[in-house]
Amino acid sequence: MTQVAEIDATPAATDGTVHHWIGGRLVAGTSGRRGPVYNPATGEIAREVDFASVEEVDAAVAAAKAAFPGWRATSISKRTEIMFRIRNLVDARRRELAAHLTAEHGKVPSDALGEIARGLENLEFATAIPNHLKGGFSEQVSTGVDVYQIRQPLGVVAGITPFNFPAMVPMWMFANAIACGNTFILKPSEKDPSASIFLAELLEEAGVPAGVFNVIHGDKVAVDRILDHPDIAAVSFVGSTPIARYIYETGTKNGKRVQALGGAKNHMIVLPDADIEMAADAAVSAGYGSAGERCMAIATVVAVGSVADPLVEAIAKRLPKITVGPGSDPAAEMGPLVTKQHRDKVASYLESAADQGATLVADGREHPLYKDSDGFFLGTSLIDHVTPGMDCYRDEIFGPVLTVTRVDTYDEALRLVNDNPYGNGTAIFTRDGGAARQYQFDVNVGMVGINVPIPVPVAYYSFGGWKSSLFGDLHMYGPEGIQFYTRAKIVTSRWPDPGTSKVDLGFPRTR
Ligand code: NAD
Repeated sequence: MTQVAEIDATPAATDGTVHHWIGGRLVAGTSGRRGPVYNPATGEIAREVDFASVEEVDAAVAAAKAAFPGWRATSISKRTEIMFRIRNLVDARRRELAAHLTAEHGKVPSDALGEIARGLENLEFATAIPNHLKGGFSEQVSTGVDVYQIRQPLGVVAGITPFNFPAMVPMWMFANAIACGNTFILKPSEKDPSASIFLAELLEEAGVPAGVFNVIHGDKVAVDRILDHPDIAAVSFVGSTPIARYIYETGTKNGKRVQALGGAKNHMIVLPDADIEMAADAAVSAGYGSAGERCMAIATVVAVGSVADPLVEAIAKRLPKITVGPGSDPAAEMGPLVTKQHRDKVASYLESAADQGATLVADGREHPLYKDSDGFFLGTSLIDHVTPGMDCYRDEIFGPVLTVTRVDTYDEALRLVNDNPYGNGTAIFTRDGGAARQYQFDVNVGMVGINVPIPVPVAYYSFGGWKSSLFGDLHMYGPEGIQFYTRAKIVTSRWPDPGTSKVDLGFPRTR
């Protein structure tokens, strides 16, 4: 087990409040509005975070706008060098960054380090920006005429991020955004804001000029100003589906380019021929890792035919062995949930599931830390015989609760997944390559795992769900991230000899 807890998470501001980062320095909020930042393992308020006013968002946008001409004119070689330095600093300081995640999100150190490793992939992808920005060139499209395409940055772009990946999701966005020559405003989750300031300080140390990367903390006031600010060209969002829909509709109405990733309800189909022990290991790892607070967590196991009884038994057998505890405990594999309110909402699904006729095989409320600790703990829960009409099936629970739905056939399993309004991730467990290939062909979901429970694409592909899991046209990071943060310009050029031109009112032809 990796030890991170020995490194103290340094509050992002020494006066106990996490401030904004505007124009290359910490700026204390003046709105008078603040929110609490909890230590989820103790239940205490660890510090506060400033909530920005409209004027404070405007100040960040002004700083980003002022920095844009210089940054976009900075050579690609220089920007590449800076991306390498950012990558190396995040790599070198990953344990301190992880400590911030454990302190405010609650995830255990090994999970926090995993988040940073996946974020680093995006920084590494961005170090290849000279290659990603290469355009196309067509010589002699007509006599003496060449056509070429270049990709240029959009200007000031913004990212609005969720609580569950306070380091990785910002890296999904800003790595490509700034490498492409944009300047960036980050509005992180108000629940765990310190990682964003730690990253801002690393970017500054790496040589990112003042104003290129800014952080504005806050709530709906800040988000709404981002959505209607005329100088913001594009918005990337990751969070829950209702807010993602709102961000997409409002941002696009205001003329912005928007990609808004929403919530999920990821199904794991287990066919009768699957290796039961492997499927059970995968369901437990992907269902309870990070206390189920992952958008790619497995929420629902769909057991096909005779696999159901042995699979439920194999999953249940593993649950008592999971150590739930604070990130400071080296043995802990699963930490608390992010807030008390969220923990209580997650627990309420156990109540409604029992009321609606499901079978509670394991009840996380029986864990001693749920009863005796002030931290926001809940043990692992397993609910069997879940049907689509139940609340615990319909809603995204986003906690350490795995449900099992039993079906008779592959077709029934497929219908469940395709009828679900979400389409973020899914997995199929089988030894039958033909069945797996058919599932990959049939399923209306953006990211598919074959005997892989959390199929988060590597950074040189792009991440995106379908249906209510993504609003917009382009997926996040990877090649589609480069497309999102740039626009194409097509140049048609010729260099005729003097005296060879003539007036021609016809529409230009290439032949
Ligand atoms: P959330 O939607 O509550 O918050 C996300 C961001 O939106 C935060 O910065 C928050 O301050 C802001 N926000 C919240 N309410 C708002 C409002 N009314 N108006 C304007 N802005 C508002 O999400 P969360 O609870 O922080 O994160 C968990 C959710 O994110 C889950 O639904 C999870 O599935 C989803 N998620 C999706 C992905 C993905 O890639 N699809 C990745 C991670 C998380």
